[in-house]
Amino acid sequence: MDLNQVYHKIDKLRNQIKKYNEAYYQKDSPLVNDSTYDKLFLELKKLEEKYNDYKPEEKLTNKVSGERSKKFEEHKHTYRLYSLDNSNNLDELRKWIEKTIKDIGETRNVSFVAELKIDGLACALSYKKGIFETGATRGDGFIGEDITQNLLTISSIPHKLPQPLDIDVRGEVYMPISAFEKLNEQQTLNNEKLFANPRNAASGSLRQLNSEITKKRNLSFFSYGAIIESQNEIKTHYETLDLLQSLGFSVNSNKKLCKNVEEIIEFCNFWENERFKLDYATDGIVIKVNELNFEEDLGYTSRAPKWATAYKFPPEKVWTKLLDIEYNIGKTGAITPVAIMQPVSLGGTIVKRASLHNFDEIKRLNLSIGDKVLVKKAAEIIPKVVGANHSGDAIPIDLPQKCPSCNTPLNKPENEVNFYCSNIFCPQQIIAKLEFFASKNGMDIDGMGSQIVRQLYNLGLIKTYDDFYKLKYDDFLKLNLVKEKTATNLLNAINKSKNTTLARFLTALSIKHVGKETALLIVREFNTLDKIENATYDELAKIQGIGEKIAKSIYEWFKNCHNLNIVKNMLQLGIIFEETRNTLISDKFKDKTFVITGTLSQKRTYYEEKIKENGGKVSSQVSKNTSYLLCGENPGTKYDKALNLHVIILNENEFNNML
Ligand code: NAD
Repeated sequence: MDLNQVYHKIDKLRNQIKKYNEAYYQKDSPLVNDSTYDKLFLELKKLEEKYNDYKPEEKLTNKVSGERSKKFEEHKHTYRLYSLDNSNNLDELRKWIEKTIKDIGETRNVSFVAELKIDGLACALSYKKGIFETGATRGDGFIGEDITQNLLTISSIPHKLPQPLDIDVRGEVYMPISAFEKLNEQQTLNNEKLFANPRNAASGSLRQLNSEITKKRNLSFFSYGAIIESQNEIKTHYETLDLLQSLGFSVNSNKKLCKNVEEIIEFCNFWENERFKLDYATDGIVIKVNELNFEEDLGYTSRAPKWATAYKFPPEKVWTKLLDIEYNIGKTGAITPVAIMQPVSLGGTIVKRASLHNFDEIKRLNLSIGDKVLVKKAAEIIPKVVGANHSGDAIPIDLPQKCPSCNTPLNKPENEVNFYCSNIFCPQQIIAKLEFFASKNGMDIDGMGSQIVRQLYNLGLIKTYDDFYKLKYDDFLKLNLVKEKTATNLLNAINKSKNTTLARFLTALSIKHVGKETALLIVREFNTLDKIENATYDELAKIQGIGEKIAKSIYEWFKNCHNLNIVKNMLQLGIIFEETRNTLISDKFKDKTFVITGTLSQKRTYYEEKIKENGGKVSSQVSKNTSYLLCGENPGTKYDKALNLHVIILNENEFNNML
């Protein structure tokens, strides 16, 4: 990557993280899960450290995040609040402990306190002569939001201490899981938005302008630290926790004074599994140096103490209940079973549905309605059912014989796992096709999402693809929640989509087995729509990469008068294609399959085009058939797989040299 590209990447990451911070800290409604956020944060941290001079005033990873909302008075903290640096796995944690012992001096006796990391909202409570005076959120660590009135409603926060101390107490306001579940049940009944997890529910409930609402939300408080201004004899963190307990604060009892690495690791391993039995969320273990004088010696970075670290638990799996199976009818008529589950919080979002892909998966998991199912996030994003526990009164799942939308008997082609509805006039299939046609991978009609397409279909305004290009401004105003500006935008987007590529157009038609790759192969061979329409089955079948099944599907599609009419109409309504020339410039990569991973200096599509222009193929999975892995920075698991399979790994320079 040249310097401009690096700077561009830094700007992009900064903007992305700012957007996620705002959603998480201010709106209590995260846009991504924590591990996705953590990965981006780490990527930016490495870049900000390496390119230290680039817009230093905009640096993000050296600050405590947590923008304040203007709806509360500002509170300037007397003592700064910090975040925590993370150890993402036990090896990193071990290294952190060894380094800390070394920094303190190996001859000095150091101990550590391991505590649960409570997943809530950091707050600072200020007591003067034993009386609670002000309480505030962490904010950026210097200035927080004054939420004293709301904190006063939490019963585990004492208003008066048994000793007249001047003390600044630190801790976490959290919502017990049982209270969180009840709150979300209530939100469902009231048709209101669900909270993604107890942390966001706690933050949303605490940062209310009306403290009566906060009071009803059953919040609680664990205290885990203090700065004591009054005279005292406290020498260790553990003694601080004991003092807090004696003052009437709730201190989490799941803590351990550890003398060595092994004891700390044992504590982490134990709680990684046991945490699910607790009635509050914990996302890791905080490990702190116990002796306060060593804390002083170690000091702080710009955002976190050097005397503490947070070991984050790996992404979780959760049990929930299978309530029903819904059948999704795709654009090619394939029926996909979808698990409908009791809503459950998983990795920062509420999960209610998970695709089961096909009926074999239902058999493999031996699923019945009412079963307990174990869900995790595949690639940490998409919910996936990975296990099931049969419950006594579970109801067996009857695999449907007929299409749930149009009642046509389903068929299962030989050698395929999917069942299909063969009725091309099946309403759900038509909607799926129209949705795909308008989507990013189809004609890319900006703003034409599923909700709009469904409404247009239900009002009888679109039935076939060409109908999109016949829509009028007034048609959009008939839709729910669509006003003048959106109507104009949608019309503009439809017009814009008319200038397209033949490959995109062909993909958008949802011809069975014809995705982006196949469409490109066909366009490369025939160049014009006219030639594709008139291609014989044999001409299609002999294209490399297109077998008999695909050739048959394309051939039959273009022999259907109904389809040809729709295509003709679209051309008359103004669709124009960019490509008329043969895009193949060499056959350098003939018979070679490339897989791309990691961050490269250009967008992925650039390399894909280069490979294809030179006769090569691009695949998304590394397998023994992969010829090369083109590998950028921070590669994913494809890199390990390529190493295992002895696939040739190319960096960007090597790839360019080959070109
Ligand atoms: P953090 O939550 O990783 O750790 C610091 C905090 O831990 C402290 O401020 C304190 O409130 C808390 N804590 C809990 N138990 C503690 C204990 N026993 N002792 C000491 N502290 C304890 O860091 P952060 O800066 O508050 O937040 C960053 C994290 O928030 C990220 O790592 C990410 O996981 C999450 N986040 C997620 C998104 C998203 O979009 N999903 C956005 C922003 C932040």
